[in-house]
Amino acid sequence: MVSVDEIRKKYLDFFKKKGHKEISPAPLVLEGDPTTLFTSAGMQPLIPYLKGEKHPLGRRLCDSQPSLRLQDIEEVGDNRHTTFFEMLGNWSLGDYFKEEQLSWCLEFFTKELGIKKEKLWVSVFEGLKDKSGKEIVPRDETSYNIWLKLGIPKERIFFYGPQKNWWSRSGDPELMPEGEIGGPDSEVFYDFGKPQHSGCHPNCDCGRFLEIGNSVFIQYEKKNGKLVELPQKNVDFGGGLERIAMAVSSQNDIFKIGTLKDLVSKIEEVSAFHYGEEEKKDKSFRIVADHLRAAVNILAEGVYPANKLHGYVARRLIRKSVFHLYFLGVEKNNALSFIATSLKGQEKISKNWDFIDENLNFEEAKFKQIMEKGVRKLDKIISEGNKVDGKMAFDLYQNDGFPLELTLEFLGQRGINFDKKAEEVFRSEFEKHKELSRKTAARIFKGGLADHSFEVTKLHTATHLIHSALRKVLGEGVSQKGSNITSERLRFDFSFDRKLTDEEINKVEKMVNEVIKRGLPVFFEEKPLDEAISEGALHFFAERYGKTVKVYTVGDPEGEYFSKEVCGGPHVKNTKEIGRVKIIKQEKLGAGVIRIYAVAES
Ligand SMILES: [Zn+2]
Ligand SMILES: [Zn+2]
Repeated sequence: MVSVDEIRKKYLDFFKKKGHKEISPAPLVLEGDPTTLFTSAGMQPLIPYLKGEKHPLGRRLCDSQPSLRLQDIEEVGDNRHTTFFEMLGNWSLGDYFKEEQLSWCLEFFTKELGIKKEKLWVSVFEGLKDKSGKEIVPRDETSYNIWLKLGIPKERIFFYGPQKNWWSRSGDPELMPEGEIGGPDSEVFYDFGKPQHSGCHPNCDCGRFLEIGNSVFIQYEKKNGKLVELPQKNVDFGGGLERIAMAVSSQNDIFKIGTLKDLVSKIEEVSAFHYGEEEKKDKSFRIVADHLRAAVNILAEGVYPANKLHGYVARRLIRKSVFHLYFLGVEKNNALSFIATSLKGQEKISKNWDFIDENLNFEEAKFKQIMEKGVRKLDKIISEGNKVDGKMAFDLYQNDGFPLELTLEFLGQRGINFDKKAEEVFRSEFEKHKELSRKTAARIFKGGLADHSFEVTKLHTATHLIHSALRKVLGEGVSQKGSNITSERLRFDFSFDRKLTDEEINKVEKMVNEVIKRGLPVFFEEKPLDEAISEGALHFFAERYGKTVKVYTVGDPEGEYFSKEVCGGPHVKNTKEIGRVKIIKQEKLGAGVIRIYAVAES
């Protein structure tokens, strides 16, 4: 059987032979991108080039990009959906188009990988009309005719509308925000032959068909609410590496492929169950394997579990894994880290293993406590002869982090019904709560600043001073991990392996307050990111897609300065405005991260 690694190599070699240059994959964790937290497609880092900017490596590119799609999180548990996956990609930046792309795609699948052509079905775009019936995007007869010419019979070519055969990061044309790019696409499906039922077609979700590659013809941009043609016609191909491996080996279960298979075997070692024996348990096996792999890949980029943004995603993935291990009867401590050792063959993971290991163990133990506390509370409610209602279940979730699924499982094990009405009450409370956290999240996305009031501006400039002072007192190993500012106080997270001593805190405070007293000016300049980095500017929120970044310097940008940092602002003009800074509290957050709180007194 051809391995996942071999398929990746064959793909990159094949496209290099066709004149493509291999680009290095983007990080999974994106900082400072207001639209998204993680790389979810290979095209994401290439957006400026798809819009017409010149790429230094030319107009034909390829790579293999680790990606995370949280949209699919609820689908995990079936035979083919995962949140984390590796995506093979090739691009034409205004170079070749449909003819070459579709024929190379087929050549790769059939000649290089030996997939039988009879097993492949394809789809093309049926066109888009406005409400009055006027054509906006034509039906893709070109791709249809190319597929016919390549030997795919018309019975296996399907036309679909914008729901299925249009690609942009935000979905169909109506959902595309201003400036978003996209276009019609043509997908290739592998036919497992089963199950057979009437009315089945490539996009049926019975599991017979598996999408293994999508050629997107990116030629439109949303401008003033309308689709307009980009200056160049692009190709953006993406194919899930493990899905392709499924087709190559005719294996209708992604959890029997590559690292997912290794993870499932490791889970079996600590579980009382075996994979493939019972559908409900299999679902738990799959969720643990997928979520743990995704979490480990996030941790490998220095994110620790937390309540916001990237850290929240890591926490949610880890907790859901712990919770499903419980269903699988796993009692071993540090089970997640034990299972994850099967991923240590990957360099990024082995290099960061200590951080991954500590954080998995820390979070697992913490969530187990939550689970035990929840179970005790439920026991108490029941032993006192009370019924668990929707409100109680929601309070357990909101106050103790105890998920509804666990409440249901607990009740199920004791043969108690949680009636439909109670579940509805839970869901409606839950929706209200979600709406609230969505609003909060929208605010936090704007750079971690609550507002642009003077108080917030002062405290924000103070974080730059604290960041620099911490590095001067504790060493250059200290770097910012996050910050949050309200008009009352600032919160600053940084990498360090222990709490600070009183003496260290005094030193940091003294250094910061001396700078404030000296009344240093705060300057900003705009410059290319690499130039800023080479000048030594700290760059936690590196704006990866902007050509230029703002660099704020406290002191003289050309001469002696106290702090130099890439940041979007806002800042005071002179440090004198800040007032006296006092560190009021510190906490150890997970492994290797310290959080401090500080206030400014005028
Ligand atoms: Zn079907
Ligand atoms: Zn700043």
